[in-house]
Amino acid sequence: MKHIIIVDCQEDFCNPEGALYVKGAEVAVENIKKYLESLKDEKDTVNVIFTVDWHPLTHCSFKENGGQWPVHCVKYTKGSNIVEPLIKAAYSIQKYPEIIKKGSDENKEEYGAFAHFINEFLSNGEVEFKVNGDNFDYISFYREDDEFIICGVAGDYCVYETYKNLKCIGMNITPYYDGIAFIGEKFDFEKQFELESEE
Ligand SMILES: [Zn+2]
Repeated sequence: MKHIIIVDCQEDFCNPEGALYVKGAEVAVENIKKYLESLKDEKDTVNVIFTVDWHPLTHCSFKENGGQWPVHCVKYTKGSNIVEPLIKAAYSIQKYPEIIKKGSDENKEEYGAFAHFINEFLSNGEVEFKVNGDNFDYISFYREDDEFIICGVAGDYCVYETYKNLKCIGMNITPYYDGIAFIGEKFDFEKQFELESEE
């Protein structure tokens, strides 16, 4: 199975009028859309996973609550919506794209979407992750021989941290750079990961 992980492609990050717009996000979105459309013939072996930043108003990452970011992606508000071109492209591939919510605990900043695995590898070759639903957690299963492609925003925060979550346990994950927008300088995930592993 090939999993396409699309990180935080929400109005607040991707729309130039959004609360925490990431420069170049609309170009990344356009490229991801084209990429998804190119997968139509493979849809039986493709799984689309969206992650969404999903905050309560009281979230600790907001400036007014002592954090470093302006108020963004407040759950169920317009800014938290996944941008329409991508949700539509995903629906054309599969009926129920997977949606993982993160940052819904007011006391926790959460950049990576796969921080909480339960068992690294089960005897049947599956990896079991505990991920956030809306008001509850659920368990998601992936296979250790699955392929993961990752893209979205922001490259230097949530995309890289989510990449790391899977890389750390040896999963096969590749960034799709044309579909990634960075807040700061663009960097190579693989090289950065190696540097951090040496420390
Ligand atoms: Zn956030």
